[in-house]
Amino acid sequence: MALLPPCPDTALMRELSETRRGFHRIPELSWTEYLTTARLCTELEALGFAVAWGQALYGTQQPPNPPDVETDRIAYARAEQVLGVGNRYLPSMQGNRTGLVATLEGSLAATEPGPVFGFRFDIDALPVTESQDAEHQPAAEGFASEHAGIMHACGHDGHLTIGLGLARRLAASRARWAGKVHFFFQPAEEVAGGGLLFAGLPQMAEVERFLTLHLGIVDRYRIIFDATWIAARIYDVVFHGRASHAGNAPQDGRNALLAACQAVQGLYALPRHSAGMSRVNVGRFVSDNAHNVIADEVRFRYEVRGADNEICDFMAAAAEQVLEGAARMNGVTWERQVFAEFSSYPNSRALAEEVAVTALEIGLPEALLQDSFLVSASEDAGFLIQKVREQGGEATHLILGSPVGGGHHCGTFDFDEQMLGWGVLLFERLVLNSTQT
Ligand SMILES: [Zn+2]
Ligand SMILES: [Zn+2]
Repeated sequence: MALLPPCPDTALMRELSETRRGFHRIPELSWTEYLTTARLCTELEALGFAVAWGQALYGTQQPPNPPDVETDRIAYARAEQVLGVGNRYLPSMQGNRTGLVATLEGSLAATEPGPVFGFRFDIDALPVTESQDAEHQPAAEGFASEHAGIMHACGHDGHLTIGLGLARRLAASRARWAGKVHFFFQPAEEVAGGGLLFAGLPQMAEVERFLTLHLGIVDRYRIIFDATWIAARIYDVVFHGRASHAGNAPQDGRNALLAACQAVQGLYALPRHSAGMSRVNVGRFVSDNAHNVIADEVRFRYEVRGADNEICDFMAAAAEQVLEGAARMNGVTWERQVFAEFSSYPNSRALAEEVAVTALEIGLPEALLQDSFLVSASEDAGFLIQKVREQGGEATHLILGSPVGGGHHCGTFDFDEQMLGWGVLLFERLVLNSTQT
């Protein structure tokens, strides 16, 4: 495996490692990132950023797929206990208005033209229990999750650390650059609601050059400068039948359970599209009936994915036919709601290539650079990339690849912290190259 040279700025590395470990200890689930957001707001305001959070950030927008009330209550109470009831940031975040946008103008902006940059860092964690194995570095070095059953198992603690590290450096060098930077610390990537909501923020409408990243992913050291992600649509379905006695009057029932089972079989047998890869999965299926009752209600959640939005739409339409067919065979009705969607959108080649040149400029070895790559997973940054590109701006998604321990979304997930330093240096140089005079 090609190795990553250590980040040359050792003071920066010490600072980033400490920041990352601090956030790794306090993971929060999608739409409940209260403590994380408040801590980011506190530091970014102290650095001189204009910070928008809570009610003022969201306006009339509502989180599209919030967690259940109890999950939310526990997270808010925990944040309040740590930060105190009088915390400046928490109250207006109530109701899942987490995340923030922090904005800074270079001091040269008054006299020199400069672009508006947008950087997006997702901040949510997962319902995963962190490993206590001695081989798992966070456990061995004492910075494992302190929130039971929740873990930064996708590297978003690293993403927000790169964001904060970059913000510190751009605040320190403010006198030497023009233009404006918006930092989008986005909640709820794992449930795909945050990207959709953040794409509609007024700050996004100003962005001319947009960059986002994911750590890990490829399980080896790589700087991928043009990464796209597959599209996905996730649905909640209910089949409604009619209950009856299973022995005495089965003919009077309408079997929602049988219909739903046939639907699931049909979903896995969907025809595929020659234009690119696709996926289908049913990950949750609930029917809570007695053994002697013809089941009258079944709920399940399924997802379809495609290499691009069109293939994903094709899969979604084919899935709908299967559900309709299974329902009709059994004389039951069904309804479906979108739980979440992930858009797939191509990057700007010019910006991607500029990232590659900049990576070499800061000393990353050419052997680690990789061009376009389609990730077999979905990322809601696709909505943000689409938004920027449709308004005439440039956007690209990077992967800062590193070994990933036991893999993403596992209790032994981890990444190489050296990538944090390289990430900050890369983004900083991109800003300075295009705005410094
Ligand atoms: Zn993830
Ligand atoms: Zn992730």
